[in-house]
Amino acid sequence: MDRVSSSTAQPFLTPETPPGTVFCVRNVSKVYRMGEVEVRALSSVDLELYEKELVVLLGPSGSGKSTLLNILGGLDIPSAGQVFFRGRELTFAGDAELTRFRRDRIGFIFQFYNLIPSLTAKENVALVTEIVRRPIRPEAALELVGLGDRLDHFPSQLSGGEQQRVAIARAIAKRPEVLLCDEPTGALDYSTGKLVLEALAQVNRELGTMTAVITHNAAIAGMADRVVTMRSGEIVRVEQNRRKLTPAELEW
Ligand code: ADP
Repeated sequence: MDRVSSSTAQPFLTPETPPGTVFCVRNVSKVYRMGEVEVRALSSVDLELYEKELVVLLGPSGSGKSTLLNILGGLDIPSAGQVFFRGRELTFAGDAELTRFRRDRIGFIFQFYNLIPSLTAKENVALVTEIVRRPIRPEAALELVGLGDRLDHFPSQLSGGEQQRVAIARAIAKRPEVLLCDEPTGALDYSTGKLVLEALAQVNRELGTMTAVITHNAAIAGMADRVVTMRSGEIVRVEQNRRKLTPAELEW
């Protein structure tokens, strides 16, 4: 049974979560075992993520941010606890369901862009739009991230920030409900990093895609609706920004 995407699946409705809850994380822990050694990456994490919001996951290296993001995106599974996606329990899903969940619902952005060097920007995005049901046209997706004039450029002809924006266009072209970004500006300098953040803010605003951005840079937290701060595998703080800054206003 497909607990993630089938409408006939039994809905594992979670109490206490308001409508518009995209993810509900309950008491999630993750332990990595490496031979004799156990690494506790997450300890009893509880979190809700809501439609249309832009959330920054902030914390030092090793605090569990990527582990949490990977669990949300179905790339990893918790050792204990539950994750619900729109009220259905994701932690119950098998490999095939998780693959479908990732393909249909989630866009991923990583620190490195993983573009295909022999394809142009437009062709890199088209790879995705050819296999999904309701794609955004590659030209429109690239326009949205400010690369309408770079359609026929190859990755080697683009700056790092432009390549990352192609990766964002590729991730959003399938109209995912959720965009998960792991240190998207980690390999970029200050000004190109800001352009990438502008592109993420633009996508969040225009498409309403719930967006989670991992960073260890506290200045980036200013662009979020909410900031989730992690330390040693735990969420130590969740704050709402009273005034959201534009990426142009961020300084570090
Ligand atoms: P962050 O994203 O905040 O840097 P991570 O989630 O990557 O933190 O890592 C949290 C902890 O879990 C770290 O101590 C890390 O070394 C460990 N860890 C992460 N992934 C693995 C893995 N695949 N195998 C073993 N340990 C891991």
